[in-house]
Amino acid sequence: MDSPARPQIEAWLRYFDDLGLSPFYLDRAATELPPVEPAPASQPVASRTALLAAASPSTAPPPPRAPDAMLPVVPSLFDAAPRIEGDSLARIREDIGDCKRCRLCEARNTIVFGDGSASAQLVFVGEGPGHDEDVQGLPFVGRAGKLLTQMIEAMGLRREDVYICNIVKCRPPGNRQPERDEVATCSPFLDRQLAVIHPKVIVCLGNVAAQTLLGTNKSISQFRGQWFDFRGAKLLATYHPAFLLRTPSAKSEVWTDLKKVMAELGLKPPKPKPRAG
Ligand code: SF4
Repeated sequence: MDSPARPQIEAWLRYFDDLGLSPFYLDRAATELPPVEPAPASQPVASRTALLAAASPSTAPPPPRAPDAMLPVVPSLFDAAPRIEGDSLARIREDIGDCKRCRLCEARNTIVFGDGSASAQLVFVGEGPGHDEDVQGLPFVGRAGKLLTQMIEAMGLRREDVYICNIVKCRPPGNRQPERDEVATCSPFLDRQLAVIHPKVIVCLGNVAAQTLLGTNKSISQFRGQWFDFRGAKLLATYHPAFLLRTPSAKSEVWTDLKKVMAELGLKPPKPKPRAG
């Protein structure tokens, strides 16, 4: 290829190679989202494709982005990312290294990779690390994290039974939402984590996680508690624990969602401990 664009294209390919996604362009056309599984009437499952189609009809160009929209409505390049042979959480962490691929590296103390079981059936995906997470290098360890731990235990699980991670691995300054380009730069690592863990259920905590994984600009309130098919896993979005700290009245909705997850995983709530005395 002899084109002025060649250096730029080569730079991009080196970048994708750096992310461990070098074979993506070979399988792009052949890779399809997994078929939608038939759903029981009580638990309707929508496909990611259906949600995308609703947001952006395939016969028309993508709609203009709403002024406050921060995430793309079109599927990302990484929708087609094939599973990398021999990939592991350790290799992904190694590939991240002392990452400076986006501006979030500038103010972070620690890269918060993720925590929990590498063979978890249930993965929680949040937005990004906050102050406590940035200091400790672990996801969901602040006030919102303690609430998430309580939620996990109410489901009859321990934190170490599940895997917890975020869309971006470095704390956005001032706890702002991550920008679209930061999400696009960092989320391929999450894609790889999910491919390696291969959970049965993914729970997105909050708008950013849900919009990123489902590739939509719709507000979480429009699809909270619904099942979606996500690359062979079932995905459900619910409110972020930080939102519940501000809006305790929403806890009952989240518990309703988590009970659906428990049913999917065949979990029963733990028996209440007998009171002392
Ligand atoms: S947020 Fe992700 S892409 Fe950006 S610097 Fe941190 S690890 Fe790298």
